[in-house]
Amino acid sequence: MIGVDVGGTKILSGVVDREGTVLEQSLVESPGTSEEDVVAALDAAVAELVDDRIGAIGFGVPANLGRGTGRVLRATNLPFDDFDLAGHARARFGLPVGVENDANVAALAEWKLGAGRGTSNLVVLTLGTGIGGGLVLDDRLYRGWAEIGHVVVQADGPPCQGNCHGHGHLEALASGTAADRAAQELWGDGADAHVLVDRARSGDEAARARLAAIGEFLGAAIGSLANLFDPELFVVGGGFGTAAGDLILEPAQEAARREALAPADKRLRLVPAELGAVAGLVGAALIGFEALDGAW
Ligand SMILES: [Zn+2]
Repeated sequence: MIGVDVGGTKILSGVVDREGTVLEQSLVESPGTSEEDVVAALDAAVAELVDDRIGAIGFGVPANLGRGTGRVLRATNLPFDDFDLAGHARARFGLPVGVENDANVAALAEWKLGAGRGTSNLVVLTLGTGIGGGLVLDDRLYRGWAEIGHVVVQADGPPCQGNCHGHGHLEALASGTAADRAAQELWGDGADAHVLVDRARSGDEAARARLAAIGEFLGAAIGSLANLFDPELFVVGGGFGTAAGDLILEPAQEAARREALAPADKRLRLVPAELGAVAGLVGAALIGFEALDGAW
């Protein structure tokens, strides 16, 4: 199976088996200038890996998709405009193709093969440059937008990122980019989220306080999500989420329990993601297996 994790700046493609083992992988820059260039780069990423072993192709794309159609409607960081990626790849490679939002596929991977194994209701948050989210509800991946990064956690708060014109969204206050900004406010332009996490781990009180504040915003969102979906588990991953770990998860869990209705206020749990940087790749491949098994 080929999985393709399409990022705003990089395309990670790989051959993955049903157990989620990555047998082969390749990382290339994604040219962000035109839809044609991105599609050509995706074709090349697949062509490099495709051979007789491959039964289908799955894509995880950082975009809003037409539900169940594989059409890429709009992406914050890529020049897609209502492109039929599933139809294109099917015609180009003659294989079944599945396409899903990148955060949704990461949620699928954590549910099937990672920190969420065995649960029926799960929310996965991916904290990186932006914030992605995915939901598993009653043993099914929710196929809607699940743009958890764009829930409001501070009314009239700071402007959001990228193409989003909202204010006080979780992504503006608890992403790796927000952590970069906090580090720069403390120590100037050269500092970033890595410095913030490193100094907090060495006991720097200012750094710990800024990460705790980020955790509080995360917890506000999670408390609200608990009140909507009452999941058994919240899984937090992504580059920044994984690096910051307990420094944000502990204050987030405390804040979330403050907001959640009983009995979620006592039992609500946050855990770190388990699949790391390959969650998107493995999840994309799982979408490919769904296509192979006739779910598309
Ligand atoms: Zn937003």
